[in-house]
Amino acid sequence: MAAPPDDRPHVFDHAPDSLAELFGDWGLPRFRAKQVLDWVYAKGVADPRKMTNLSGRDRELLHEKLRFVDGAVVRHQHATDGTQKLLIDWSLDAAPTNPLAVLGSTSNQTECVMIPVERSESSRPRKTACISSQVGCPVGCRFCASGLGGLDGNLTAGQIVQQAWQLQQLPGVDRLTNIVFMGMGEPMANLRAVLPAVRTLAADWGMSLSARRITVSTVGVPAGIRRLAELDLPVTLAVSLHAPNDELRKQIIPWAERVSIAQLLDAGRDYFAKTGREITLEYILLGGLNDQPGHARELAKVAKTLRSNVNLIRYNEVDGLPYRRPADDDVQRFQNLLKSSGVNVHVRASRGRDIAAACGQLRHEAAAV
Ligand code: SF4
Repeated sequence: MAAPPDDRPHVFDHAPDSLAELFGDWGLPRFRAKQVLDWVYAKGVADPRKMTNLSGRDRELLHEKLRFVDGAVVRHQHATDGTQKLLIDWSLDAAPTNPLAVLGSTSNQTECVMIPVERSESSRPRKTACISSQVGCPVGCRFCASGLGGLDGNLTAGQIVQQAWQLQQLPGVDRLTNIVFMGMGEPMANLRAVLPAVRTLAADWGMSLSARRITVSTVGVPAGIRRLAELDLPVTLAVSLHAPNDELRKQIIPWAERVSIAQLLDAGRDYFAKTGREITLEYILLGGLNDQPGHARELAKVAKTLRSNVNLIRYNEVDGLPYRRPADDDVQRFQNLLKSSGVNVHVRASRGRDIAAACGQLRHEAAAV
């Protein structure tokens, strides 16, 4: 489970007001809350003993009463394309990364990834953090490593935010530009933590990302999509469709038994009406299964029923699973068919393949060690 190793409040769970309240209870001046959050988010310092504008007494008190970095990084991998991936064990005390650390049970572990993308000379490189919302995943998509062992627990809002913060502290990152909830877990199944986490990621006093650059990805929980819209932040919604009809979708996504594509599209239309944000339809191309011309034509029809764009993702093979990566020609033909039907479509570049950057793969491999 994702239970914290101690029950002290976690700084990443707090907004300025709630932290000020805690500080008041501890006899600290309330304005310290803003100072502490400024150290953490603006200066990247999460050790109260290094917060030099606090008195020695206050630093010690905070060190004793407040939890800063939760869990421990048990693996830190670098891919040749600059992608970096962390495997965090939430049951361990924070410790410096140790490549020889003995891995605990994978039922306490999640992974997060920082994906750099160089753009034109005039624009800043994009640095996207892909973060997890749960330990394992309750959805159990047949092609996914995260779904293999089912759900082990929910992450807290603080643990979700902390992943983005930790990725931002990695060498060469400096500042994240985008955050996607596409790691382990189904965000809509843990909205109690995901909604406050999104607020902190977008807050000026927090990670300070533009809400438009935060993407929440879901296999589709209509009620959850409508609750996300109520946040009143223009967060990008990505719906993992992965099949153009219910019959095929049910074969690869067990939750498709509960929710039809039509119901999902309805929720997507409501999301657009409320936020003005176009919906991204995610589609993992599984070689020979959903990547044929007939599937592309069907998908084009679906995509045109709402304001959407389609993101095609080449499947990354997972050991022990029967699905395969699509052929390049099939991907190209699939994309061309969508384009010629007037659909705005992109193929997502595969990143970090040499470190198994697909969601759940690192944890899956760690379990096999
Ligand atoms: Fe869960 Fe996403 Fe994996 Fe499906 S693809 S099992 S929703 S983590």
